[in-house]
Amino acid sequence: MIVTIDGLASTGKTTAGTGLAKKLGFGYLGTGALYRALTIAYVQEGVNYENKKEVVALLKRTNISVMFENSNQKTFLNGVDVTSKLKDKEVANTVAKISPIHENRVFIRKIQHNTAKNANIIVEGRDIGSVVFPDADVKFFFSARPEVRANRRFEELKRLGKQITFEEVLKETIERDKLDQEREESPMVIPQGAIVIDTSDSTLEEVIDFMEKQVQKKMQET
Ligand code: C5P
Repeated sequence: MIVTIDGLASTGKTTAGTGLAKKLGFGYLGTGALYRALTIAYVQEGVNYENKKEVVALLKRTNISVMFENSNQKTFLNGVDVTSKLKDKEVANTVAKISPIHENRVFIRKIQHNTAKNANIIVEGRDIGSVVFPDADVKFFFSARPEVRANRRFEELKRLGKQITFEEVLKETIERDKLDQEREESPMVIPQGAIVIDTSDSTLEEVIDFMEKQVQKKMQET
């Protein structure tokens, strides 16, 4: 069974998704981490993402994989664990420029399909229910007010010891969503048949309980 979660940045997709996966005993794949790992490759190797030849050459020599430790996803770039670098400011600022590129999406899509093959899995991202797994069994789409989202990201970054102001985070959050929604290639949309959840005023438990009920309903139907 495949359950998809798409939605705006910092709406709690990852926290709710991993919580739900633990409850259901499902696997969990956060696809933002794949795009972020690929972004690290571009940054580290100084590759010009506007040059198709350079893009193709980079993808040919790049390997991204995931591993799960106590249900926590670890993301590897060419065999090196880059999990702790995924939230770096430079990565956050660059990822939405890397993710619209067709070749990059095809590259990441393959990893997504291979990871989810024959699994009971929750896959989280921006185009999962619309493009990557349009026939998923249950689809969710998360939204929340911009200030609530920026505040969540701000608290998360502070916990990670990153130096940044709330205003900067708010600006970045709004800019990133705009890029994700307006891009031509796989724009972030509400997938057909998705259940929309506004997480602004709900607790994590409420969100997870609601999702669990929807998944169980689907399991009983099939
Ligand atoms: O979810 P997260 O904030 O880690 O995603 C980082 C970025 O990766 C998004 O802003 C988006 O540009 C890109 N992304 C995407 N498609 C996905 C998942 C993430 O384009 N399925």
